[in-house]
Amino acid sequence: MIIVMKPRATKQQVDHVVAKIKALGLKPMVSRGTERTIIGVIGSEDAVRVQPLEIFAGVEKVMPVLKPFKLVSREFKPQSSVIDVDGLSIGGKRLVIMAGPCSVENRQMLMTAAKTAKQAGAHVLRGGAFKPRTSPYSFQGLGEEALKYLREAADATGLKVVTEVMDVRDVGIVSKYADILQIGARNMQNFNLLTEAGQAHKPVLLKRGLAATITEFLLAAEYILSRGNFDVILCERGIRAFEDQTRFTLDLSAVPVVKKLSHLPIIVDPSHATGYWDYVGSMAKAAVAAGADGLIIEVHPTPEMAMSDGPQSLLPEKFIALAKELKKVAAAVGRTL
Ligand code: PEP
Ligand code: MN
Repeated sequence: MIIVMKPRATKQQVDHVVAKIKALGLKPMVSRGTERTIIGVIGSEDAVRVQPLEIFAGVEKVMPVLKPFKLVSREFKPQSSVIDVDGLSIGGKRLVIMAGPCSVENRQMLMTAAKTAKQAGAHVLRGGAFKPRTSPYSFQGLGEEALKYLREAADATGLKVVTEVMDVRDVGIVSKYADILQIGARNMQNFNLLTEAGQAHKPVLLKRGLAATITEFLLAAEYILSRGNFDVILCERGIRAFEDQTRFTLDLSAVPVVKKLSHLPIIVDPSHATGYWDYVGSMAKAAVAAGADGLIIEVHPTPEMAMSDGPQSLLPEKFIALAKELKKVAAAVGRTL
């Protein structure tokens, strides 16, 4: 349930309601907006039937949340969230572009990729240090060595770092080097990892599971918010369907649906969604037109030599050209890049 306080409710009135919620054995989540304070209540709502909260001073209304997700919902927070990544805003008028190789393979290639990303106007450097590979015999990533290269390349070029954390035990080490913790599609319902990320003091990029509904996706985000970390960026990266001409099927309608249901920003990954570099540009432009808050795109200096996802990686010059086209699409939908 959600408790909406009156616009001029005093701090004492908010504190009083919070104390009452706690006394009922429920967990209050206070969100102080510029207009008013909203209190999300987590736990069984049966207790509130005995003690109605409407009667408390300063309370405007008590709303049951009909949807299964609460803190991520627009009912809880009507205004769109803008996530601050150490000075970089995600979810505002300006689109955010994350770019880089699938995996960090060595220091040199990452530095080249970072320079390309910067030159094209990207804001965040991507690159896997811990790779979720279908086969145990495929390249699994360089681990901490890759995290060091990411930090070095990002600092040298003025970019932020996003990289995947696959294991609860690695949240600490990845947080030490990265600006954004990525939770991959295959871990979207790793509830222990979501809980741990909810306790980390870093923004989280949560990718949609290969076969997850939008409700399941938003409930996965709810895990992170329910632990107090409201800095979550969602990512649509394609879902499994019967079509096999593309690697996955990009569910672009997830963008407006998520925008309607949730206040969280959502970006699109056209690289993993399509699986082929040739389709990346079209779907990137479509995503911006559909209202996405940004893109995450795989770029590799020599895709034919890539240790993972070469076929879907853009050559530097192709990415730079795409960024120019994206500027025009962004302008057409009232955004900037
Ligand atoms: C990635 O972005 O590196 C990745 C593995 O993507 P996904 O989890 O969407 O498959
Ligand atoms: Mn990849």
